Amino acid sequence: MTHGHAHAQVSIEERQALLDKYMAERGLKSTRQRSLIVETFFESGGHQTVEELWSRVRKADARVSVATVYRTMKLLSESGLAHARNFGDGQTRYEAAVGREHHDHLICTRCQKIIEFENDRIEQLQEHVARRHGFKVTSHKMELYGLCRDCQRLS
Ligand SMILES: [Zn+2]
Ligand SMILES: [Zn+2]
Repeated sequence: MTHGHAHAQVSIEERQALLDKYMAERGLKSTRQRSLIVETFFESGGHQTVEELWSRVRKADARVSVATVYRTMKLLSESGLAHARNFGDGQTRYEAAVGREHHDHLICTRCQKIIEFENDRIEQLQEHVARRHGFKVTSHKMELYGLCRDCQRLS
């Protein structure tokens, strides 16, 4: 079992159960706004900033504040259901952490396009490097920065 695959096959119901359990343990109530934010986040997919998610959520409910979206995403990230990512432009982006396989990222520094990839050989090499140093890997991120195909054409 490689790290990062623990939650690979998780249904929407299981995801909801994980979140409910996490919130119950902390004495937090599931509110309608919070549920809307969580649903919108998982339906939209990709790598969303709080502002991007907020603008999607507002289409369904204009009363939701950016602070509520911010707090909900912090909760999702702390509960392990979402990963907070920083791709070097000072923006925090969130992506789903359950119901999908581990993957790494190629980040275009010109248009901010984010391309996901999986490479078994890279994963194995990382494990190999860690083992040689007697190191136990609990998580990792591989981020390659540069220009995407479209941006290379423009330069
Ligand atoms: Zn680009
Ligand atoms: Zn990703």
